This record gives sequence, C-alpha cells and structure tokens, in this order.
Amino acid sequence: MWAAGLEPEELADDDDVAAELAQGGVQAIVVPSTNLLVDPAAIRTREGRPYTVFTPYWRAYLSGPPPAEAQAAPETLPAAPPAPAGLALDEFQAEAQRAWAAGFAEVWQPGETGAHLRLARLLTGPLAAYAEERDRPDRQSTSRLSPHLHCGELSARQVWQAVAGELAEAGLDLEAATAPPAWGGEQAPGLRRSAGAFLRQLGWREFGHHLLRHFPQTPEQPLHERFAAFPWRDDPAALEAWRRGQTGYPFVDAGMRELWSTGWMHNRVRLITASFLVKHLLLPWQSGEDWFWDTLVDADLADNALGWQWVAGSGADAAPYFRIFNPVTQGRRYDPDGVYVRRWVPELAGLPAAHIHAPWLAPADVLAAAGITLGEGYPAPIVDHGEARSRALAAYDVVRRPRR
Ligand SMILES: Cc1cc2nc3c(=O)[nH]c(=O)nc-3n(C[C@H](O)[C@H](O)[C@H](O)COP(=O)(O)OP(=O)(O)OC[C@H]3O[C@@H](n4cnc5c(N)ncnc54)[C@H](O)[C@@H]3O)c2cc1C
Repeated sequence: MWAAGLEPEELADDDDVAAELAQGGVQAIVVPSTNLLVDPAAIRTREGRPYTVFTPYWRAYLSGPPPAEAQAAPETLPAAPPAPAGLALDEFQAEAQRAWAAGFAEVWQPGETGAHLRLARLLTGPLAAYAEERDRPDRQSTSRLSPHLHCGELSARQVWQAVAGELAEAGLDLEAATAPPAWGGEQAPGLRRSAGAFLRQLGWREFGHHLLRHFPQTPEQPLHERFAAFPWRDDPAALEAWRRGQTGYPFVDAGMRELWSTGWMHNRVRLITASFLVKHLLLPWQSGEDWFWDTLVDADLADNALGWQWVAGSGADAAPYFRIFNPVTQGRRYDPDGVYVRRWVPELAGLPAAHIHAPWLAPADVLAAAGITLGEGYPAPIVDHGEARSRALAAYDVVRRPRR
C-alpha cells in the first residue's frame, strides 16, 4: 500500500510498480496522497469536467466534507522481512553541496522538526495579521511552509487542522472564516479573516494540483492553445540580467537575489519578477519557470506552472493580458520604506526611501550622497517601463481572444 504520486511521471511509476507486483501475485493498494487536502481528481463540475476557475473550485471543495484528520505516526513500523541493508543518511547527499546554496542553512531547517517549528511560528506570528500583511516582503508576513509542504515534511491536512484549532481556541467558526466575503458586507474580524485568507492559499495549492492532474501538459505548454502563437523574443543577455538580479529595477532585482541566496522568494515578488520577464522582456514564461525550478527550494511542478501561466495570461483563471505590473509602483506600495530592497540590493542601501525604487529618477546630488553612479555597480534599467508596456500590449494583440 502506498500514497499515489502527484506528478504525471510519479503516476506512471505507480502504474508500473502496481503492474509488476500484480505479475508476482501481489495486489497494490494505492491511496490518494495525504500531501493534499483532497484527491486532485475528486472535484468536478456538475458536468463532470475539471474546474479552470479558482473560486468555484474552492467553493466546491468547501461544500464537501472537511479534510480527513491527519493521523499520528505509528509507534513502530515493522520492516518487511528480510530487512534490506540500509544506507547511511549522508550517502543520499540530500543537502545541496554547491557553494551557492551555502546560505540556505541559515534560513531553512529541512525535516519534520523544522517544518513543525515553522508551523508553530505561523500560529504565534504571521497568522493573526495574514490578511493585511501577506503582500509585504519587507516583513515576515507569511508562513514559509512551502518547501516543507512540497517535500511532505508536513501535510496540508496538518496545517489545516492547526489553523482550525487556532480558530476554535479563539471561539471562531471555521465555516464563517472560509466563506467568501459578502459584497458590501461587514469585514470579518482579524483572526477570522486572516485564517480564511491563509486557508484560501492552501486552496490555490490544491487547485494547482487539480490542474496538473487534468492538464498534465501545462508545465510545458500553455493551457490556452492560442498562446502557442505568442511572439516571444530571444534575448540571452536580458534573460541573464533577470536571473542575476541586474535589471536596474530594484524591486525585481531584490526578488531575484533573494531567490538566489535563500532558494525562496515572497509571493508578491514572484508575481512582479515573473511579470517583468514575460511582459517587460517578452521572454517565454517557460524560461522563467525553468529558472525557478532550478533555484526554488519549494520548486513544485504544479504550483510553478500555475504561477507562471497565471502571470503570462495563458493559464487557468489567469491575469488579464493588459495587467502589466509597474515594478516601481509595486515596490513603493509593498516595500514602502525600501527595507526589502536595501537588504537584497546593498549597492542602493544609501538611498532614501523616496528614491530607492527608481534610482534613475533620483537627483544627481542624492545619488552622489549615496555613493551611486548608475551603470557602475548598479545598472540603469535594461528597458523603459512605458516602452516595454506598449511593446507587450502589441504582442498580446496577436493572441487576444477574437471579439464576438
Ligand atoms: C511565478 C510563480 C511561481 C511559483 N512557484 C511555486 C512553486 O514552485 N512552489 C510553490 O510551493 N509555490 C509556488 N508559487 C506560489 C507561492 O508564491 C508560494 O507558494 C508562496 O510564496 C510560498 O510562501 P509561503 O509558504 O510563505 O506562503 P503562504 O502565504 O504562507 O501560504 C501558505 C501555503 O499556501 C500555498 N500557496 C500560497 N500561495 C500560493 C499560490 N499562489 N499558488 C499555489 N499555492 C500557494 C503554499 O503551499 C504555501 O506554503 C509560485 C508563484 C508564482 C507567482
């Protein structure tokens, strides 16, 4: 008996192993993975089709039974006789050996203990103000549970149960927390709203796996086929500048450098950096997806594809093509004091908050006082925002849905 894989190749392996066992007279029992709240194949529209829009998917999930209780680990686990010779943990070389990953150990504690510490930190820290703060990369505003969830060191059901437990302890109702806010209705109080917003993000994770199960081609190909004709550019120098955090847009560069140094990037900044690659640089979303795949500690086939296709506009419930994030105004809104940029782009640390998100607009005396000469040390922007925006809109015209 084993838990089913989540990715197309894992599912194929499951079938192969089950077939092999059957030949030897052993019946395999494959149960849905406990790494998700629900079997990705279980939720369907009334017509029996998969969902391609998040909100009705999530509503359908919430109208079903609550996630099965996470079970405690067994006290003992009898080994299959005869027990195979073991391998020492070191022999797996599970920890990254490369020099660029040296800083990861400062940020992450891989394994079940580290995962539970993060969960405990969520409950006593970011959860209470998650709804208001979750978009702020300058603060520890989110759980950072994604690598632990991806690696199965903690299950989504355990996280759900822990958050539900917090609500119950505060005398709050889980159903009310997860109900969509009524138009014009009263805003739910702090913890209730925040817990609802947090559980909804777990819902996006489920939705990503639902899409991968039903559209297994989407890590490589656009869900909406008309996007196959999109006029992408080929510009290795621009791609490299993006990868290395050298685009000249501080909010973008901070995110790319956070990714390189820690293997993780805040969700808001993932949106901005991804949008910059796809819309400002007109480089294929798959090239960004590949870089994230190589560098994220939470790299997940389903959620990475979901995120990239959402940004590109080619996926399920995706961002409209005309939404082109302005990295300067996004930086000013979500990192108003420049704390995040100063941390990851130390060349700009001397700039006051008013100029840190657009150093090329800073007066010469301000730049001089901060010891900055653009183009030396820190680059000037590799594209002009206004020109890039017009170029992207023209490119998106090629794949726009025909008017009725
Ligand atoms: C371009 C792009 C690529 C992404 N690639 C990945 C990836 O490879 N792996 C990955 O786990 N997430 C990915 N995400 C989703 C999201 O950015 C991360 O899950 C989140 O930033 C993890 O931080 P956290 O654990 O603090 O999240 P929290 O805000 O604390 O959320 C709790 C959990 O909900 C899930 N979650 C949150 N936001 C999303 C989302 N938008 N989509 C799906 N699940 C979500 C994660 O499992 C997360 O751990 C991507 C998003 C974008 C825009």
